[in-house]
Amino acid sequence: MPEAMVASRALDSSSSASTQTVDAAVVGAGFAGLYLLHRLRKAGLSAVLLEEAKDVGGTWYWNRYPGARCDIQTIDYSYSFDPELETAWKWSEKYATQPEILRYLGFVADRYDLRRDIRFGTKVTSATWDQAAQRWQIATDNGAKVSCRHYIMATGCLSAPKPPEIDGVKEFKGEVYFTGRWPHDGVKLAGRRVAVIGTGSSGIQAIPMIAQEAAQLTVFQRTPNFALPAHNGAPPADRLGALEGDRAAYREQARWSLVGVPWPQQTVVSWQLSEAERRERFETAWAAGDLAYILTQLWADQGVDVDGNKIVADLIREKIRGIVEDPETVAALTPHDHPFGAKRPCLDTNYYATYNRPNVTLVNLRQEPVKAITATGITTDKRNFDVDVIVFATGFDAMTGAILAVHPITGRDGKALSDVWANGPQTYLGLTIAGFPNLFMITGPGSPSVLSNMAVSIEQHVDWVVDRIAALRDAGFTTMEATETAQAGWAQHMADCAMLTLHRLANTWYTGANVPGKAQGVMPYTGGVGPYRSICNEVVTRGMLGFRLSGPNIAEQCNDGEVVRLQPDVRLVLGLLAQMNLPPLETMGAQGARDFLNEFNKGRPSGRPVGEVGDGMLQGADGPLPYKLYRPATPGPHPVVVYFHGGGWVLGDQQSDDPFCRDMCRRTGMIFVSVGYRHAPEHRFPAAAEDGYAATRWIADHAAELGGKPGPLLVAGWSAGGNIAAVTCQLVRDRGGPEIAGQLLVCPVTDCSFDRASYIDNAANYFVTRGLMFWFWDLYCSPADRTDPRVSPLRGKLAGLPPAFVATCEFDPLRDEGVAYAEALAAAGVPVEQLKARGHFHSSFTMVDVVITGAPGRIQMAEALRRFAGLPPEVKLPPQRLEAAAS
Ligand SMILES: Cc1cc2nc3c(=O)[nH]c(=O)nc-3n(C[C@H](O)[C@H](O)[C@H](O)COP(=O)(O)OP(=O)(O)OC[C@H]3O[C@@H](n4cnc5c(N)ncnc54)[C@H](O)[C@@H]3O)c2cc1C
Repeated sequence: MPEAMVASRALDSSSSASTQTVDAAVVGAGFAGLYLLHRLRKAGLSAVLLEEAKDVGGTWYWNRYPGARCDIQTIDYSYSFDPELETAWKWSEKYATQPEILRYLGFVADRYDLRRDIRFGTKVTSATWDQAAQRWQIATDNGAKVSCRHYIMATGCLSAPKPPEIDGVKEFKGEVYFTGRWPHDGVKLAGRRVAVIGTGSSGIQAIPMIAQEAAQLTVFQRTPNFALPAHNGAPPADRLGALEGDRAAYREQARWSLVGVPWPQQTVVSWQLSEAERRERFETAWAAGDLAYILTQLWADQGVDVDGNKIVADLIREKIRGIVEDPETVAALTPHDHPFGAKRPCLDTNYYATYNRPNVTLVNLRQEPVKAITATGITTDKRNFDVDVIVFATGFDAMTGAILAVHPITGRDGKALSDVWANGPQTYLGLTIAGFPNLFMITGPGSPSVLSNMAVSIEQHVDWVVDRIAALRDAGFTTMEATETAQAGWAQHMADCAMLTLHRLANTWYTGANVPGKAQGVMPYTGGVGPYRSICNEVVTRGMLGFRLSGPNIAEQCNDGEVVRLQPDVRLVLGLLAQMNLPPLETMGAQGARDFLNEFNKGRPSGRPVGEVGDGMLQGADGPLPYKLYRPATPGPHPVVVYFHGGGWVLGDQQSDDPFCRDMCRRTGMIFVSVGYRHAPEHRFPAAAEDGYAATRWIADHAAELGGKPGPLLVAGWSAGGNIAAVTCQLVRDRGGPEIAGQLLVCPVTDCSFDRASYIDNAANYFVTRGLMFWFWDLYCSPADRTDPRVSPLRGKLAGLPPAFVATCEFDPLRDEGVAYAEALAAAGVPVEQLKARGHFHSSFTMVDVVITGAPGRIQMAEALRRFAGLPPEVKLPPQRLEAAAS
């Protein structure tokens, strides 16, 4: 008999010793659990849902405090799986109240007849994987145990309230409430002295409401948060119009967006905007009252760059100063310890203005910590506050709290989840855990969850999980389990994503910092909702990559591996390029490829401001050549770097690596002179090499006129430019100068051998292909000349060359010849530093402000150049540079 037919009716609820046997047990009847139950049934699986509460709703069942609302616009914070459901329900407000959202979830439960398979008032207490039966055995505090093939925890990211950290709560003779467990029949606050402890989202929503009722409100704040006015009211006509105009397209855009709300990807960076333009954008966002909007739509660097972020943060600080009257209260309420958005910002209604009321006092716990709660109130180390009611708005043991509260969860080989996660949660995709077959989490740690519109994330997780369970069954497997390799790969990818954003710079509940003793680390997936969705899909299209599938009557299947090995932004860039379906550059002809690249470069962010950019002409090997000079904003004279652009000796010019030159000029505090050397096929080998040498001589002779410091030059280059830089160092050594203090070779061409592993492994798919490199070589250099050290410097004499920094990228055909050159230099006694950039491709370092994860590599390069020049590692940038940019 198929398991699906052993329906949940197999329960004899009169006996607590009986066992209910189902295909799937779901824990939690919030947004996630309800949709799960619906989908499992539709997939023909028998299911039971276990819920501690007395009714459906999850978050919206428990959080009934005054002012509780959603903070993602409600038309977005809704199910989208059934268009008929969407039109059957109308939201009354832009941000619906808790009672309205709870009514909605009740409506959903009734519409799909879900309650008949929900066991309310039933808490799951432990779960054990029975290896022999290939089933989970679930224990509860009420009624029958459950035996299930699949155990799905929809227990919520924010459903385990954090216990108070203050001594003496039990001594208090008044009333104590938690926002996350608010009484159903309300709390009488009128005329009473109330204390609120905590100023996170719940506190910020509740405080203005409580202040209106209470005789006296005292707010105890440890860390101030950024809050923005919600401007609540009816759902905004423009958003509603967009949704109703094309519902399917609207929802689809949300599914592929960054945070699950259909706003486009912002591409303009802060320094491309004038101060007035930035202010205008900010004021629009402030007036919009929309978290997702202000977090994503101001400028592209606000969430990834401290400078771009500081501009928003300062503008919000200015708003706080404009609203709150008392300067000491302003100071206490103004956040300075985290970038805007690194901690969840809050949406408020009159929050800051509430502190102007005569019945409201703010106590800054950073200045006067709470000593104890006494019988009559709260004592800080400076004052006593007598109160009638204490409200704890102290948040949740987020993301892992409710999962680990089911204890023990015992997986394969008797492993307890609490031990496996002792140093922090480890998951694959945030959905599964190695060692715990058939256990799934909805919005688990490692998924976008709390960094997204959770309605969108929940639907995606539920669909993925139920589709996988159904496919598993259809293929005759009974278990699926993540592999250790896949899980470790996901941890690495999570860490790479976390480096990309500013979340790592804040101590928050995202990182576990709010719970004493909890392991620290960014728990939600910071790579975005759309990218996450595409990765989950890729796991499936690549044959359930990273999962071991097994069953009693079928051979085990395991396609092991890591789903993402590229840096997250490199993956996005390559994905976009693949979507563009461009013809290969080598099919366009030299001029066609140049035109194409010029066009393509127009779409990239302009480089960051430097002190001055100028054009000039220098003397090449066979006539004048153009150059572009980048001068730092710091006072000169500066060391000079002779720079050679990339482009396979065929493409590019003195300004095609403009963002890279600007970035390196700023980071090194050095003049960069980018040389417009001659190109093939018009000028074949050795034109580029000889131009490189001649230009270096000319720049050395004219260094003082260019503002350069007397002394040796430095040379640098990327790709074919790295080749010219390496060759130049050999030529100046052999031809009597000028003196070079160091060479920076970024993904250089160093040899004419095409059989190294990187040429084979990375032959296609990473923009620079084997075919493209063959084309470049053919246009520049005839086979007979290719072993000449002026084009294959690896074949030259290497002793006596200047110190080198050689950067190579993992997913680049040129990787291994760069490494070979670095190793050969070292063997020849040349001081060499290598950077082997994991997860990067050929253009990672030069796509400044697109491949953000390239920045640490450029920092290392700049430090190396400064070391070569005998300077300390860091440059101090002048503070006014952003203004300079805008003007
Ligand atoms: C005040 C507040 C406002 C929020 N606003 C937004 C918003 O605007 N937008 C947004 O995207 N997200 C918001 N969130 C996050 C919110 O938690 C999610 O949007 C969503 O409601 C989560 O649904 P869920 O089903 O995953 O979990 P929950 O709604 O938390 O449901 C989990 C359920 O599991 C039950 N449970 C847990 N452990 C057990 C156990 N061992 N046995 C039995 N039952 C158990 C709990 O009782 C609970 O009912 C908000 C959260 C809070 C607290």
